[in-house]
Amino acid sequence: MSRITWPNGARCAAAITFDMDADSLIHVSTGDGWRRSYPVSMGRYGPTVAIPRIVETYRRLGLKQSFFIPGWCLETYPDAVETILRGDHEIGCHGWIHENPLNRTRDEQAADLDRALAAFDRVVGVRPIGYRAPVYQVTEHTVALLLERGFVYESSMMADDLPYLLRTSAGDLVEIPPHWGTDDWPPFAHYEEIGYMMPVRGPSEGLAPFFEEFEAAYETGGFWMAVVHPFLTGRLARWRVMERWLEQTLNRGDVWFATLGEIAAHVIAERDRGAEIRAEDFPYYTEPQT
Ligand SMILES: [Zn+2]
Repeated sequence: MSRITWPNGARCAAAITFDMDADSLIHVSTGDGWRRSYPVSMGRYGPTVAIPRIVETYRRLGLKQSFFIPGWCLETYPDAVETILRGDHEIGCHGWIHENPLNRTRDEQAADLDRALAAFDRVVGVRPIGYRAPVYQVTEHTVALLLERGFVYESSMMADDLPYLLRTSAGDLVEIPPHWGTDDWPPFAHYEEIGYMMPVRGPSEGLAPFFEEFEAAYETGGFWMAVVHPFLTGRLARWRVMERWLEQTLNRGDVWFATLGEIAAHVIAERDRGAEIRAEDFPYYTEPQT
């Protein structure tokens, strides 16, 4: 396994990333989402109740972390954005209204990105350097579109335990890989309208695999990242479990909690000083395989 040396002698890098989807999903997945007040309310819990709770925990623990937000959510929930920015956290791009890039042409994907970036200009005041594709669906066009717009990293693909590089004819994009073992959709999502009905786990049981994944990353000097959602893991009891774990893990003193922007900058600095960072050529395929 290739190694990345982390700053200040840290043994392991770690990040909790929140995708603040709010109620975007119900609008893109049904034609009448605006009438479905219960799932709208479930999504609204994220920006209105969970975000202030999460940001307060980070303030108390001195953490700066990353949030991925669709452009439509930036415009619909500016108070949540302000709360996140007041905590000095990073906001990355997560599409316009959580549209699935697989259902979009190259030109449509470009237009979605540009519409989201215009929302960043209006609501955030700075352009994002990081992107996570809605439903993780990076297509053959996505990386080139991101590089054209000055993005530095992407966080949707799963080809390694450690950050790696997506090598294209137009340059490298850092990939900061998630995986399903540390995503809160399987243990906690129960969302009939979008066809996702999981048996909901108890808070400790549902988050235990995340922490088991962390121990492996810690032992090997690797990287751990949670991909979680304010309306799921930001709920009262689940966040209490995560908060206790954060306190214990920070007490170890040798875990580097950082934003993905900081981690991407570190990977680029390591590459530039000649460290061996694994790279994958992208796109993987340019035509159907038969
Ligand atoms: Zn999402």
